[in-house]
Amino acid sequence: MRGIRVYSVLRATVWLIGLAASVASTSPSTMADEGRPAGSAQASEEGTLRGTLTRDQQQLLTPEKVLEELLAGNQRFVSDDLTQRNHSQRVREAYAGQYPKAVVLSCLDSRIPVEDVFDRGIGDIFVARVAGNVVNEDILGSMEFGCHVAGAKLIMVVGHTHCGAVKAAIDHVQLGNITPLLAKIRPAVEQGKPVDGEATSENPAYVNDVCRENVRLAVATIRERSEILAKMEAAGDIKIVGAYYDLSSGAVSLIP
Ligand SMILES: [Zn+2]
Repeated sequence: MRGIRVYSVLRATVWLIGLAASVASTSPSTMADEGRPAGSAQASEEGTLRGTLTRDQQQLLTPEKVLEELLAGNQRFVSDDLTQRNHSQRVREAYAGQYPKAVVLSCLDSRIPVEDVFDRGIGDIFVARVAGNVVNEDILGSMEFGCHVAGAKLIMVVGHTHCGAVKAAIDHVQLGNITPLLAKIRPAVEQGKPVDGEATSENPAYVNDVCRENVRLAVATIRERSEILAKMEAAGDIKIVGAYYDLSSGAVSLIP
């Protein structure tokens, strides 16, 4: 027992020394930071495209700047002009800590390679993926970790056209654990309004309308069910946005 107590005191002391050393930092992060050197402050897009993000670089970012960078990265993806990165070097750089700039919640769909879609590499963004990009307690906890603990500035929920999970929710599919998953999409089905045709999964316009509504509801759910994230957004520390990926073009557009 005595050994454990001495170890705990030593550990707390080391932690406090580390905290004092980073007194200028406003980041709540200790869990995400495991001793990686801060590196030089360089918040420019060019400065962070090829190397891994440092704490200093992360702290210089604003939610608006991060959003701008992700959308610019998507334009490069659409233009087939992705940044060439040395992944081996990035793996080595990032092994001891991470300072990602955003949390992206995307559908499970294999046609949406999230890091590529935003032209991001190792250590740049947290990505949570689940069919129908639905929000639950675990996703909320992950987002709170990403933003409050690890310092990310933006949460983006990304739905997409022709979402199979949304179609299955429209069709009332019932199968194993898929049933409770689809139940989380049903509110969007019930709120989606038929456009140019019937309210069925055979009507692409209707499906895409429900997909967008599903993203809007996910964003609203994040604000409603996470006091931590809602407060961070109200204080201007983060931004929470909904977006939509077009499977035919690769383009991401924001959902008002
Ligand atoms: Zn989908």
